[in-house]
Amino acid sequence: MRNENKKPIKAKDKIVAELPLACMDETAAVEFIEKQRWGNMPACPHCGSLNVTKMTDGNGGRNRRFLWRCHDCKEQYTVRIGTVFEDSRLPLRHWCYAFWAACAHKKGVSALQISRQCLITYKSALFLMHRVRYAMTEPNPKQQLKGVVEADETYVGGKPRRGIKDIQIDHRKHNRYVGRGTKKTPVLALVERGGNVRARIVPNVTAKTLGKIMPKEIHPSSRLMTDSFRVYRSIGKNFASHDTVNHEIGEYARGDVTSNTAESFFAILKRGIYGTFHAVSKKHLHRYIDEFSFRWNTRKITDGERITAVIKGADGKRLMYRQPINS
Ligand SMILES: [Zn+2]
Repeated sequence: MRNENKKPIKAKDKIVAELPLACMDETAAVEFIEKQRWGNMPACPHCGSLNVTKMTDGNGGRNRRFLWRCHDCKEQYTVRIGTVFEDSRLPLRHWCYAFWAACAHKKGVSALQISRQCLITYKSALFLMHRVRYAMTEPNPKQQLKGVVEADETYVGGKPRRGIKDIQIDHRKHNRYVGRGTKKTPVLALVERGGNVRARIVPNVTAKTLGKIMPKEIHPSSRLMTDSFRVYRSIGKNFASHDTVNHEIGEYARGDVTSNTAESFFAILKRGIYGTFHAVSKKHLHRYIDEFSFRWNTRKITDGERITAVIKGADGKRLMYRQPINS
């Protein structure tokens, strides 16, 4: 990434300096991930003991499977245990590249690009990227959004369809169809101004559905800002105040009242989905939304810190190869 402030490279950006080697050499990749996950404390995941040693190949090099041995419980383990990569046979250097690419590119990186760069099959690359996205999901429980919170909704995806039965209705546009012959998925974004975004797929954008979600995600002391979509009217009563801008008369901001932050999140998400990924199936859309939310929520830290955050996010998220990855 461009160093916009022309400042000298800080210690935390050394992470980025180590990445090119970690993406080429398997030992460097394993040691990079060990350092990110464990720091200087490679504690045994079975019993917590620090009385552990790296196993060697007899010539002083690392064991072929990069095993560690615990002297207390006698178990062996590797850095993969208890993470999104535990059940993957893909070399960790490809995981390093995928983490790096997903963290450094604002609009994300496609499985096709990963497949070409790492010389792995498209199927393996898809598997890899879905798990990288899973590592990017925010763990529960979450804190409620506070202060000025913008809410907005949009429709994503959907290939053109023949026949009329798939057409959904956009309640925003006086019940006009959403595109012609399309079936799109509604997505809700709640953005704390200057803070985090919470974005998710919703079954519909009725007052009933959004009225269940928003009071859970947003603190009652917040100032809610939306456009003049009528479903927000009743929901707004849950918060300290509710201001709206009326897009229908060309109003997008009035003083500090605007939903532009939420709209810019959607703009990045859509440019990513249509530009980088071309087509995203409805089944996987929530993972892409998590990926874009992760990058938004970590926008104030460096690429290196973001990579550390996603590798730490890989912990405790073990997935089986064939396990469905719905949330
Ligand atoms: Zn142990």
